[in-house]
Amino acid sequence: MTTLYEHGTLASLMAGNFDGTITVSDLLKHGSTGIGTFTGLDGEVIILDNDVYQAVSSGKVNHITDMNATMPFASVHFPAEQQSVALNNVNFAKLNNDFVKEHKLNNVFAFLKLSGKFEHVKIRIAPKQDKPYPTLLEVAQHQPEFTADNISGTILGYYAPEIFGTITAAGWHLHFISDDRQFAGHLLAFDAPKLAGSFEVFDNLEQHLPVENKEFRESTVDMSTLREGIAKSEGNAE
Ligand SMILES: [Zn+2]
Repeated sequence: MTTLYEHGTLASLMAGNFDGTITVSDLLKHGSTGIGTFTGLDGEVIILDNDVYQAVSSGKVNHITDMNATMPFASVHFPAEQQSVALNNVNFAKLNNDFVKEHKLNNVFAFLKLSGKFEHVKIRIAPKQDKPYPTLLEVAQHQPEFTADNISGTILGYYAPEIFGTITAAGWHLHFISDDRQFAGHLLAFDAPKLAGSFEVFDNLEQHLPVENKEFRESTVDMSTLREGIAKSEGNAE
């Protein structure tokens, strides 16, 4: 059995519940690898082999060592049944179409990690918010974007089926981090001549909810705009 562990839901973030509800230390009990964000929607998180990196909206990347820092939303897993992949001329269009078809991902959750030299990378980084929090869609409209050319690094993240596109982002949700750990963020677009890495399909989804959080318990989700809002906030450019 391979399990994807998700803490919090994207629907809750859409409603503006940005307070952290799980500590880094508790999250790492459920996975050594993954992505997420910190309290206040403070940046883009990349977790690789238990090392937690946070890209903040200035463009700086922090190596997080405070295990009591809290996160409102995160997805992690322990790599288990990985398959090797090597891809040429990779971009989002190729991942969204060819890769999904070839690996029959339409109805499953999957993890993908690819490393190599990128010709071009475009990322964005959510800026930290203060209370009263706006909605995720409002934040998404004013997010700093950064680009880099000829940069070595890794993209990693998850694929979610369309039917689960309210608890998380449907399709690919990928983050980038450079080999020197100086450039990172939520991946919007990329081009790479040759990447290699691994992927795995999960047969189990563990959705953990912050039941002790008052705002979460009392908030209502606007279902009529939820999917569109998530696509605008968390989708990739292609
Ligand atoms: Zn992201």
